[in-house]
Amino acid sequence: MTEAVRTDWSIAEIREQFDTPLIQLVRRASEVHQQFHDPEVVHVNQLLSIKTGACPEDCGYCSQSVHNNTGVKPEPLMNVDEVVRTAKRAQANGVTRFCMGAAWRDVKDNAQFDRVVEIVRQVSSLGLETCVTLGMMNAAQAKRLDEAGLYAYNHNLDTSPEFYDSVITTRTYQDRLDTIAAVRETDITVCCGGIIGMGESDDDRVSFLHQLATLDPHPDSVPINVLSRVPGTPLENAPDVNADETIRMIAVARILMPASVVRIAAGRHLMSFSDQAMCFMAGANSIFTSERNMMLTATTPCADHASDRAMLATMGLRPRVLEPVD
Ligand code: SAM
Ligand code: SF4
Repeated sequence: MTEAVRTDWSIAEIREQFDTPLIQLVRRASEVHQQFHDPEVVHVNQLLSIKTGACPEDCGYCSQSVHNNTGVKPEPLMNVDEVVRTAKRAQANGVTRFCMGAAWRDVKDNAQFDRVVEIVRQVSSLGLETCVTLGMMNAAQAKRLDEAGLYAYNHNLDTSPEFYDSVITTRTYQDRLDTIAAVRETDITVCCGGIIGMGESDDDRVSFLHQLATLDPHPDSVPINVLSRVPGTPLENAPDVNADETIRMIAVARILMPASVVRIAAGRHLMSFSDQAMCFMAGANSIFTSERNMMLTATTPCADHASDRAMLATMGLRPRVLEPVD
């Protein structure tokens, strides 16, 4: 029997999944995964920081916040040609979704946004799925990105509503939900997930999954980040996250949001080959890869194209292929 996609999960139901012994949970998630996806196909994404550092927000995990003393050198918004050249190289390396991040609090209607719209137009015309993450945004701004061909907007809830205020104080959980609602007024798909390893409890992880799994419809893609502890941030000494915790989050996300793409995001470089294999068994079907072992410019480590190609081949998995555009 095929599982139905539900958006009415209760906290108690999610807790029950979350508390399931690991191998039993992974087996269950794997069954769901096979019903909704080709389990041998993995989406390969690349993230480029198109505007780095000097962000006014105070996100406790982030290397790019002005509130954190991380030594990240601020860089202005990249020019269109440079971004397009990077996107072409990514495409030649098997990347199908090109994600671009800006260290902004929110989108402003100015020349910088005009340039991002042009970047989206040109990268989309290469036949890549484009994704941007630019902070908070209204529906009119989302519409401009939609018209330029944007495929996805990333805006993470990051953690539970209960834990959120201990990580970020310069914007609210509701602000995040409002931006997601603005994106939903267009045809742009929503990419929304979060981070584990910031000191949150299991109750917070369950509550965070509840938020994601009761969004109607579910996010099209769900990145699960493991905190990359950045010296100079309030979370530099956060506790270790064991692989079983990441695998559990992925498995529960897969069961709750069966049709979504579940992405292993930041922190994958810390996982062994076999831990990553377990993530794929648990229903992950998307990874970030990189050009120079970095996800964001010199901020978040990431595996590179060649090692990821070799890993997928060894596992008998294959990168998703997009139809070329004319
Ligand atoms: N300024 C935009 C915003 O906050 O929406 C986009 C930039 S930021 C790259 C997007 C996401 O990256 C964050 O929501 C967070 O989930 C993730 N992230 C940033 N720093 C991280 C870290 N040190 N470890 C793990 N994930 C991180
Ligand atoms: Fe700014 Fe985004 Fe980093 Fe928060 S996560 S400090 S909003 S770049």
